[in-house]
Amino acid sequence: MKKRTAYRMAMILCASFFLSGCGLFPFQQDVPFLSERADNKGADSESTGSGTQETFYGNGHDVQGQVSEDSEESESQTAEQEQESPMEKASLLAAQYDYDGAIELLQSQPDYDSSEEMQDAVSEYENAKATCVEYPLDQITHIFFHTLIKDTSKAFDGDSDSGGYNQVMTTIDEFNRIIEGMYEKGYVMVSPHDMATVNEDGTMSQGKIMLPAGKIPFVLSQDDVSYYHYMDGDGFADRLVLDENGDVKAEYVEDDGSVSWGDYDLVPIIDSFVKEHPDFSYHGRKGILAMTGYNGVLGYRTDIAYKTQENLQDDQKRFLENHPDFDYEKEVENATKVAEAMKAEGWEFASHTWGHKNASESSLKELKADNKKWEKYVAPILGKTDMIFFAFGADIGSWEGYTSDNKKYDYYKSRGYRYFCNVDSSQYWVQITDDYFRQGRRDIDGYRMYYNPEVLSDLFDVSEIWDSSRPTPVPEM
Ligand SMILES: [Zn+2]
Repeated sequence: MKKRTAYRMAMILCASFFLSGCGLFPFQQDVPFLSERADNKGADSESTGSGTQETFYGNGHDVQGQVSEDSEESESQTAEQEQESPMEKASLLAAQYDYDGAIELLQSQPDYDSSEEMQDAVSEYENAKATCVEYPLDQITHIFFHTLIKDTSKAFDGDSDSGGYNQVMTTIDEFNRIIEGMYEKGYVMVSPHDMATVNEDGTMSQGKIMLPAGKIPFVLSQDDVSYYHYMDGDGFADRLVLDENGDVKAEYVEDDGSVSWGDYDLVPIIDSFVKEHPDFSYHGRKGILAMTGYNGVLGYRTDIAYKTQENLQDDQKRFLENHPDFDYEKEVENATKVAEAMKAEGWEFASHTWGHKNASESSLKELKADNKKWEKYVAPILGKTDMIFFAFGADIGSWEGYTSDNKKYDYYKSRGYRYFCNVDSSQYWVQITDDYFRQGRRDIDGYRMYYNPEVLSDLFDVSEIWDSSRPTPVPEM
């Protein structure tokens, strides 16, 4: 299938579906154009970078060893954090609107009754809590991104993938401006798990989000954080790693092989931003990563095919040929450490199906086989999840709701999925029943910014965000 055909298919799907703005990039592993990258790697010798990120580490050779050594340091780092005073901890909890947590922490201190400082803080938090208002859940927007472009000169170099990147990707500079602007407008990251909760009897209830007036909760997600093989050499990070402080960073490899770790993708950018602005996060929440498994996760080649060497795609074969010392078990171990560090920092994971399946078009049998692979080869690394964010935004039911005869829904529910997200360009679309949670997600990318800037005006002014290194016009879908 040619790229153009894939886009057209996605467009037809989009038009025939109730949703108006699909996440259309044909990341599906059965699209061959995406697997022809590795040979062309490094053709462009110049790297501009965005110039603002810190470089943490400069040698690619023993990166794997570095990841595992770091985990010990990250434990000592955690120990340090635990030594923060109760007042400091409470202050962070309160900054993230968890006033109850802050109050409880201080009141449980043995010296609370004799500490005027703690008692004053508690009354301050009680006052702040009293000013909070409940935010209407059906007005909470959800925005998503793909892997961010670090080097636009490589992503937009005119090769066969450039147009697709221009349509569905966002640059680091754009993302930084978006996040800064949204923060200034009062946006605060929340999770679908704050919007709805699963009760002990298996039913669902609406959650309650309490924020100071003027604050606006939103959900942030990122799709396909696999650093797929086809992206090699196109100006993207190639995996997430733990640095010497136990912080999650993105690894970027220059043409000359030098490696740096820094804020080169969404996760470390948000982590750094929340360190500076804790009030951008509600109760410590960050975003949700919607993950496939066929090229592994987070840049680690953890799918079973890399071990068995059966059913390998061409780019996977090439990867193994170029990495004769590839150690599957180590790869899984390192990916797991990164995922655990991320979860400790407030990140969550959703299934995006193992094979980037179109769940509208796939049969129940195909979806079952696909989900089994997710459970077997992805869940042990990222953890079990009750969220599924459909690839291509292709939902398993109409906007009216999942009906009792919906076999796909029954299956996913039986496997523990309760939170379902499609793609929808309206400002918000939320459905919470006593059985499931559904939410529409809005793509924030070159296509949307170029063709429909008006639908993003609640979030930002595109003219202030737009990266001028994007070729225009952005190709049509
Ligand atoms: Zn996707």
